[in-house]
Amino acid sequence: MYFRKKQDEELVKESTAVWSCEKEDCKGWMRDNFSFEDEPTCPICSSPMKRDTKMLPVLANPTGEPKPENK
Ligand SMILES: [Zn+2]
Repeated sequence: MYFRKKQDEELVKESTAVWSCEKEDCKGWMRDNFSFEDEPTCPICSSPMKRDTKMLPVLANPTGEPKPENK
């Protein structure tokens, strides 16, 4: 068994569009990708949500790009 070093195995983070809860003391948020409504409500407290960005690990499965095969 051998092991090849791969640069892209590092956790890459990028500024990602998210929705975050407008309530100050609520931690509710969701990725923009994962919301299917124009203006989602918080899954925790049902408050309105506002657009925001977070530094998140890049998902390996973005829409549109083919999945790289693991060999
Ligand atoms: Zn909330």
